[in-house]
Amino acid sequence: MERPIVSDYGANYGTVNPGYGLPVPASTHGPSAPPANMFDTVPGYEGTVAGGGGGYLPPPMPSVPMPVPEQTPSPPSWNIPSISEERAREAFATYVSSKCCYSSAPVKEGVITNLESFNTYRYRLETFTESRSTEWSQEPYTGQPVDAGVQPALGPWQIAAQPPAFFQEHKQTIRVPYTSSVKNCHLCLGMGRNPCTTCAGAGNKVCWVCNGSGYRQTDDRCSHCNGRGRENCSSCSGSGSSQCDTCRGKRQLLVFINLIVKWSTEKDDFVAQHLSGLQVEKLENVSGKELFKDAQYMVYPVMGFPDVSVAQASERLIREHQGKYAQTSRILQQRQTVELIPITKVSYMWKGKSHVYYVYGNEFKVNADDYPATCCCSVM
Ligand SMILES: [Zn+2]
Ligand SMILES: [Zn+2]
Ligand SMILES: [Zn+2]
Repeated sequence: MERPIVSDYGANYGTVNPGYGLPVPASTHGPSAPPANMFDTVPGYEGTVAGGGGGYLPPPMPSVPMPVPEQTPSPPSWNIPSISEERAREAFATYVSSKCCYSSAPVKEGVITNLESFNTYRYRLETFTESRSTEWSQEPYTGQPVDAGVQPALGPWQIAAQPPAFFQEHKQTIRVPYTSSVKNCHLCLGMGRNPCTTCAGAGNKVCWVCNGSGYRQTDDRCSHCNGRGRENCSSCSGSGSSQCDTCRGKRQLLVFINLIVKWSTEKDDFVAQHLSGLQVEKLENVSGKELFKDAQYMVYPVMGFPDVSVAQASERLIREHQGKYAQTSRILQQRQTVELIPITKVSYMWKGKSHVYYVYGNEFKVNADDYPATCCCSVM
């Protein structure tokens, strides 16, 4: 069930900023970063630095109590699917034919001696969060509206953003109203031009033909530089300066605060023990049969599930997520699922020896680490 998100954080939030998480020392910014005194103090945005890295803004404490999570219904009755020998053999044949060098002899000649089910549960918790950070930004000033101080800026969590659908990653950058002001460009000191880096501002450089002497070999005057020994710098056409990149020659910059709003999904899985011998990582790429699904603002741990380790994982991961992500972001929605992942261990005999392979997931993936004929050339 979807419910409206509580967003009453009080009208005063942002006036007194609770501080930024993870501040970054100013020295980590490049030499072209503007000096800190270039930026005005904006109430509610004191920790904002140029180029980002100011850390995330912890969300304000809601001024109304969080809604109490609903008790989840007990999971439906569940049945364990099992695969037939036919299906196991078919999956095995497909797997072997996908390996260019594997011989198909064990598939054709092998005799299945045992099929064992080791079905397991996968619990998954996803938490959809919104986080906000701010940074001072700049662009050449070309007459844009200047509004700093016209009225107080809204706090970072008071500015409206357009959230995507739940569990869709998204990022939005919003220019914070009432923070834009005009400053002289700090790189060219308001000149609009900087000394040419090729000729260090001289406008010319040593003639490459006569190497600065003005003469060629003997007494002939150098025709390339007419005996000057120097030639015009081609980068700046002899002017000694070039247009400032930062203000693009406009001499002034519009500086303002950008609010960066990010929506992301944090995900954790727990796979119940299954003793089949198949590595747990193999299960990451397959799906299972969904036994239980629950999505709401804050989920409640799964109750009364047949496998107690799943219920415990649910309780632990929900506690971890709500503790961890509520510090740096706002939780908008949580979703938990329990899947039953089929795993079948197939034992077979080939050339008098016993071997094993696994068929797992809805996709009937196969794992056969001890496949006896991995090189078609050696098995004759
Ligand atoms: Zn130059
Ligand atoms: Zn010359
Ligand atoms: Zn400039």
